[in-house]
Amino acid sequence: GPKGRELLEKQERIDSSAVKYPGNIPIAFDAGKGATVRDVDGNTYIDMFAGIGVLNVGHSNPYVLEAVREQTDKLVHTVDFPTEARLDLIEKLDEIAPAGLKGENRVVFGGPTGSDAVEAAIKLAKYNTGGDGLIAFRGSYHGATSGAMALTANKGFKDDYTPLIPDVVHAKYPSPFIDRDEDGDSCARALKEVEEIIEDPYGGLANPAGIFVEPIQGEGGVIVPPEGFLKGLREIATENDIPLMFDEIQSGLGRSGQWWASEWHGVTPDIMTTAKALGGVGFPLSATIYHEDLDTWDAGGHAGTYRGHTVAMRAGTRAIEYIQEHDLLAHARDLGEHVRERLRSAGKGNDRLGEVRGRGLFIGAAFVDEDGNPDGDAVKAIQQYCFEHGVLVWTAGRHGNVLRLLPPLVLTRDLADTALDVIVDAIDHVTA
Ligand code: PMP
Repeated sequence: GPKGRELLEKQERIDSSAVKYPGNIPIAFDAGKGATVRDVDGNTYIDMFAGIGVLNVGHSNPYVLEAVREQTDKLVHTVDFPTEARLDLIEKLDEIAPAGLKGENRVVFGGPTGSDAVEAAIKLAKYNTGGDGLIAFRGSYHGATSGAMALTANKGFKDDYTPLIPDVVHAKYPSPFIDRDEDGDSCARALKEVEEIIEDPYGGLANPAGIFVEPIQGEGGVIVPPEGFLKGLREIATENDIPLMFDEIQSGLGRSGQWWASEWHGVTPDIMTTAKALGGVGFPLSATIYHEDLDTWDAGGHAGTYRGHTVAMRAGTRAIEYIQEHDLLAHARDLGEHVRERLRSAGKGNDRLGEVRGRGLFIGAAFVDEDGNPDGDAVKAIQQYCFEHGVLVWTAGRHGNVLRLLPPLVLTRDLADTALDVIVDAIDHVTA
């Protein structure tokens, strides 16, 4: 609309060239509620993206905002003095911690972004092992700061900034679909590669400090690893006495239909990172959660001005409570299956729609061209059609060929079906 155009033009004039507007029609947002958001011209959209998987309890969730308002009136920010807000969140995170960390963990808050939590994990792994080499995986995304960029696989994000931290080796992240896993052995091959990286002192890492992995890859294209992969990594990490680190920034806090995506595999990390949905309704907040055996830092061993942000912490605790009280994990599992089923039906007889995958409301659908190659243009066109018809969807994958859905967990089945009507039309329209 006209107001949206005005704001977009202004943005292009005065904002950073790094801002990447995703659409081809001008949309500027004004207000959000639950799983919907309204633009400045009065149009309403179903939000199947939730600000990159941040708004798990919906836009401006009133139960969370009630606590935010109370806290804002009392105290917004301190540092390391105890506050109920910080201690309540630490207790809440322990309550929902995966089995092997529950009752045996520590939480460190540093900076507010996911990248900050990744940096803390890197420091903790290096400090505890005395090592400096890290194993990460192809297709990974871990953030925009130097350490997190080094762990991120995609060279496009980092080649202009080398040298970063030196010793990161990227191993293959196995995917039955992408590998066209004919012998069913991509998992074993990937694990062998990790072992070789650790054991070969010349071609590999001289002094490994840990393994860093997304239990479900997000930016890489919503890739769920085969059964046995994370278990295998767990064994390798234990054998070599190095920490296994899970990046749950996108996959955690209920997104996958479990509190943590690692729970789908029954594997416990030594260190895990969380952010995005942690700030409840979109406040910036991240944390690094680790086994208490690794709690070796001296006082001040890790720092960050915003490590005591009471409002973000109150919001985070309330959001977790809200998910518990409304049983949104079960809802995410059920609704996610339903969404995947509908997408799969849309793909029946359509060679352009490949694998539909994910867990819970962490969903990806891969598109290929007539020759079976990744088709980013098709997904871009589907996204545009959806924007024009009132549904916000996102993309993922190195070739941009994965349609990614990360709706709020409060999305109702009715609203999901309304959004899916549009998405399925878009698929038909673009791949016809
Ligand atoms: N890790 C993962 C798995 C992510 O998806 C992201 C963000 N997309 C990050 C780290 C970085 O988080 P932030 O953008 O808040 O720094």
